[in-house]
Amino acid sequence: MNLAVDIGGTYLRYDIYGIKKIEIKNIDIEEFLRKLIKKYNIKKIAISFAGQVNNGEILSSPNAKKFNPKNLGIPYILENDLNCAALAESNYFKSKFLVALYSGTGLGSGIIENGKIVRGYKNLAGEIGHIPYKKAPFKCGCGKDNCIELFASGNGIKKWANFLSCEDNLKTTCKEIKKNYEKALLTAAATVLTLFNSEMLVLGGGVIKNNPYLVDLVKKEIKNYAPSFSISKIVLSEIEDASLIGAKLLLKEKK
Ligand SMILES: [Zn+2]
Repeated sequence: MNLAVDIGGTYLRYDIYGIKKIEIKNIDIEEFLRKLIKKYNIKKIAISFAGQVNNGEILSSPNAKKFNPKNLGIPYILENDLNCAALAESNYFKSKFLVALYSGTGLGSGIIENGKIVRGYKNLAGEIGHIPYKKAPFKCGCGKDNCIELFASGNGIKKWANFLSCEDNLKTTCKEIKKNYEKALLTAAATVLTLFNSEMLVLGGGVIKNNPYLVDLVKKEIKNYAPSFSISKIVLSEIEDASLIGAKLLLKEKK
C-alpha cells in the first residue's frame, strides 16, 4: 500500500486503513517512518513537510525537524505542507484560483492558479511568513528578526509571551500580543489577496481554528488593508488535516 504523512511543526500525522494517527514530534522521523514502511509493507510514500522543499530534498525547515527521505529506501513524493493544504482546499471548495493562508506553528500560504500549485523556480513561492514586516526583539527560525511570522503565528505568540512574561495565547492579558497578531494576520491576508487575485482565500491552521473569530475579523477589516478590487471570498477551512489530504491527492496524481 501507499502512505501519506504530514510532518508539521508540532505533529506527525498519517492514517492507516482510514484510521488517523498522530505522533508528537520529538521522535526520530526517519526511524519512525522506516518502521511504518516495514510494518505495513509500504511501496510509496507522499510526505507533506513544514519547510522548504524542492526536487525531493528538504532545503530548510525553520519549524520542523529535518530528515533525509532518500534514506527511506522507497519511492517518495515530498511537498511543502502549505502547497499540500492548498491543493486539498482547492479540491474541497472546487476552486481553481485559491490561496490558503494558515497560521499554526508558523505562518504560510499555498497558492493554486488554474488548478495547479504555484511553485516558483525552487518550489519556494508563497513563503508569506518570512516577508519583511517589523523588527522583533528575537529571531525567526529562518534567521531574520523582521518576519511577519514573528507576529502572526503560534511560534510568534510564544516568543512574545516569553519576552513579555504573559500567557501564550490570544486570550492573554497582554493585549499587545493579540493586537499585533491581528494586524499582522490582516496584513498577510491583504498581501496574498493583492498579489494572487484568488477566487477565494481560505484561512486555517491551529491558531485560526482555535480562534475562529479571526475569520470574521479579517472579513470585516480587510477593506482597511487591501484595495477593494483585490478582495475576494474569505472563508474558514472546513477540512481537518488538509496537508495530509493534499499529500494523498499527490499520491493519486503522480504515478
Ligand atoms: Zn522568517
